[in-house]
Amino acid sequence: MPEQVITDRLLRSWLRCKRRAWLDRHGDQAQRLWTSHRALALSAQLASFQTLLPQKPGRGEAACAAAAPGVVGLRLHGLGPGGLALQAHPALLERVAGPSVWGEHAYQPVLGRQGRHLTREHRLVLMLWGRLLAERQRAPVPQALALAGAGRGLERQRLPLGGGLQRQLDEALERLAVDLDRPEPPPLVADRKKCVLCSWRGICDQEASRQGHLSEVSGIGGRRREMLLEHGITSLAELAASDPAALAEALAVHGEQHREVAAELVAQARVQASARPERRHGAPSPALPELASAPGVLLYDIESDPDARDDFLHGFVAVPRLASADPSLAWPRQADPGWRYQPLLALQEHGEARLWLRLRRLLARYPAWPLLHYGETEAIALLRLARRQGAQEGEIAALRGRLLDVHARLRRSWRLPVSSYGLKAVAGWLGFRWSQAGVDGARCLLWWRQWRRDGGTARLRRIFTYNRDDNLATWAVVRWLLDQDA
Ligand code: SF4
Repeated sequence: MPEQVITDRLLRSWLRCKRRAWLDRHGDQAQRLWTSHRALALSAQLASFQTLLPQKPGRGEAACAAAAPGVVGLRLHGLGPGGLALQAHPALLERVAGPSVWGEHAYQPVLGRQGRHLTREHRLVLMLWGRLLAERQRAPVPQALALAGAGRGLERQRLPLGGGLQRQLDEALERLAVDLDRPEPPPLVADRKKCVLCSWRGICDQEASRQGHLSEVSGIGGRRREMLLEHGITSLAELAASDPAALAEALAVHGEQHREVAAELVAQARVQASARPERRHGAPSPALPELASAPGVLLYDIESDPDARDDFLHGFVAVPRLASADPSLAWPRQADPGWRYQPLLALQEHGEARLWLRLRRLLARYPAWPLLHYGETEAIALLRLARRQGAQEGEIAALRGRLLDVHARLRRSWRLPVSSYGLKAVAGWLGFRWSQAGVDGARCLLWWRQWRRDGGTARLRRIFTYNRDDNLATWAVVRWLLDQDA
């Protein structure tokens, strides 16, 4: 493909992050990292398409001429503003009433929507597909279709491909072409939360760290970064060197809540710049007093499919207290392969009542053992489940009393030299290594969806290993907190 051709994939990348499109074209492809998100998006899209058109779609121009109800694999070409060469590859074409160059039928483009709403990215990509398809079929494409979900939950959203969208597309294509011609990559995206989904995150993380990019400071997103830039603070080092009181005054013009966080941002930047953890002033010690007399603890981690609102796995690791009169030797130093891992799979077709019964039985086997989890998800999910299943107030209160959020306790007592207080970053900083390299929640979710579709014990084993490792990573944080208090 000649360099100057602009594809729908480049447009998609550019709408997410200008740097990403530039790297797609000029970057060293060997530096790209595999990302589960694309595979997840494609598998969700496929499920939507299979609900819309249960029969296998035809392929290419021959299928269009044969009036196939659905067509994939049609590559479209055309010219954009200023003679830009365009190329696109619609995910699916659906047959509609004609006429067109192929007879008494025509086609409209279809895509699978990720997320709850149709975004600018979806609209402009559908517009590009519609425009090039209109040229190919020599008939207008007045609307496109966006799908979400599958089965009985399939949502269909029609998008009129009108003049306003045409203009937006032309403008985007012109700006994209200019950005691609730049000799240097555009700057890192302002809101770096997006980067977890991007295959260029490896080199961009290195670049952010090299620059001391403000997004490296935990607690700084796109909006706060802009405010700091406005006040002349451009890097982590400059933030660390700032006067907290002066910064609080400066940020107060953006709202009282920003005045309040100024000192915290400076303190966090200082800890990161020094690479040394710092106990918060007046922090309670010990951080986990519940462990002083506990007979053992249950580490607890849930794996979820957020789109399906499905907590599909509740995993527990039982850590018994050691038989030692010395409190400093009461808990194991290292994860022990003998610790029992108990995964409870929550299959929706088995119903929630059965899951609740199994959870209650498991928890009853370990009376008075605190449930240690990292982040609020587990507590929210378990308490909601208990309520839905009609648990009495006394049982809910007892459950709430057993749940102990290690992340909250860590944040209450410590500042760490990490750019995020997520489990991966914190346990990684402590030297914990996941046994399956490069696996994250998205990859686990992908395995889960594949297992639901095709089965396979190896996939299930990988999901369990990942969940067990998350529990052991939580233990690494607990152990560190215990050591600091000792
Ligand atoms: S990792 Fe982030 S900054 Fe880098 S290209 Fe991807 S989205 Fe843009």
